[in-house]
Amino acid sequence: MATAGFVRELKRMVGNDNVTVETQDLVCYSYDATQMEYLPDAVVFPATADEVSRILRLANREKVAVFPRGAGSGFSGGSLPKGGGVVLVTTRMNRIVKIDTDNLIAVVEPGVVTGDLQDAVEKVGLFYPPDPASLRFSTIGGNVAECAGGPRAVKYGVTKDFVLGLEVVLPTGDIITTGGETYKGVVGYDLTKLLCGSEGTLGIITRIVLRLLPLPETRTTMLAVFDSIDGAAGAVAAIIRGRIIPTTLEFLDHSALRCVEGEFSLGIPSTARAVLLIELDGEKELVEKQAARIGDLIRPLGLVEFKAAADAAEAEELWKARRLVSPALRKVNPDKINEDIAVPRSRVPDIIRRIDQISEKYGIPIINFGHAGDGNIHVNIMIDRSKPGASEKAEEAVREIFRATLDLGGTMSGEHGVGLSKAPYIPMELSGEQIAAMKAIKRALDPNNILNPGKIFPV
Ligand SMILES: Cc1cc2nc3c(=O)[nH]c(=O)nc-3n(C[C@H](O)[C@H](O)[C@H](O)COP(=O)(O)OP(=O)(O)OC[C@H]3O[C@@H](n4cnc5c(N)ncnc54)[C@H](O)[C@@H]3O)c2cc1C
Repeated sequence: MATAGFVRELKRMVGNDNVTVETQDLVCYSYDATQMEYLPDAVVFPATADEVSRILRLANREKVAVFPRGAGSGFSGGSLPKGGGVVLVTTRMNRIVKIDTDNLIAVVEPGVVTGDLQDAVEKVGLFYPPDPASLRFSTIGGNVAECAGGPRAVKYGVTKDFVLGLEVVLPTGDIITTGGETYKGVVGYDLTKLLCGSEGTLGIITRIVLRLLPLPETRTTMLAVFDSIDGAAGAVAAIIRGRIIPTTLEFLDHSALRCVEGEFSLGIPSTARAVLLIELDGEKELVEKQAARIGDLIRPLGLVEFKAAADAAEAEELWKARRLVSPALRKVNPDKINEDIAVPRSRVPDIIRRIDQISEKYGIPIINFGHAGDGNIHVNIMIDRSKPGASEKAEEAVREIFRATLDLGGTMSGEHGVGLSKAPYIPMELSGEQIAAMKAIKRALDPNNILNPGKIFPV
């Protein structure tokens, strides 16, 4: 609990304007993209690693919980101050420190918005591929803490594949750096990888060194419409089997399509049961050859329509529709449960079939979309909580989906993390020994359990 004395200390460290205990402000930092809400005692907005260090030193001494937060767009309750304490917001640490065009790296503060970094590096002919659908508002710090993925992960990988080094403030207030500005480096344990995806439980990231790539010469976006979900799932397998790794291979079922159709005139035929959004990038000649080959590979699979975006504006329209699926589904059903399972990509047709059976068994509509190219499917359980017993039924359906996912060699979360919402389920995937090893790391770095307590591990 942050007492009045504690808040006074915070104000001395970062200035009166950068600490708030006003209820109307606290409410703004009490929720994320889940439907959960927990009011903090105070919110603090540090501007430097040194200020973060002083805050954590104080919190560690006074045993006050601190909850790191970027944009608060997380899908698993990771930034929520359950149990009370201080929310530490990184949005004032929002400088792109440098873009090094000789070494193809960028150094950024954690509060930089992902899309802003992408725009900045693209201006100098470089490319930062990780592209969560939230890229226009989520922060790089949040992306690293969640190891965010995105459509381009099929070809380029996820956030951790681009992080070369970090500056981190440990829960005790000590500041350390991990990795650095070199592509190689094997001295000691790889703490950079450990911190990627640590969900703000091991340290607060205050600086990030990112690897960049040359901007691909050309990019083409295609829409493939199928008369069955099996056709679309089969197309994913056929493309990969055909030795083509597209930049993206996004999948939407017909219900997901219906939700965005009102806002975007995509001109999808009414017979469509599923679509794939396929993007290729690279040298023009190769991209054209691959696009034609994809057409040949998927034509026998119930293809209703296959078209390429005429220009960048049309491609952006398709992507906007894809990015809006999640908010559109939330508008239709604010109570929906959103899971993000991942299976080996060849098992995508199997998991979609299993989810259909589970949907039928429990009488709950389930809408699927996501990153079919890397087997990461966003499963939206459209629960109607006004019906008696609906929550219990949905919870059992979720468990069954997780069981099916694990049976197929998959994982319960491809990119949204565990946070609060998946913590009760992790013993389904991790052994007691695995959880004990992870808890030992947490204890070693955060002996007083002050940093983002209650996350990841089941209570
Ligand atoms: C519409 C929508 C679409 C989305 N699409 C995707 C997607 O395609 N792929 C994907 O992976 N995710 C997606 N997400 C989820 C979310 O945007 C990502 O998890 C994102 O990485 C969170 O960034 P944030 O800045 O909002 O972090 P927050 O939500 O503020 O925090 C997320 C976690 O990171 C921790 N954290 C934040 N900053 C730091 C820091 N500096 N140091 C240490 N810990 C920190 C927090 O404690 C918390 O545990 C989506 C969310 C929405 C609402």
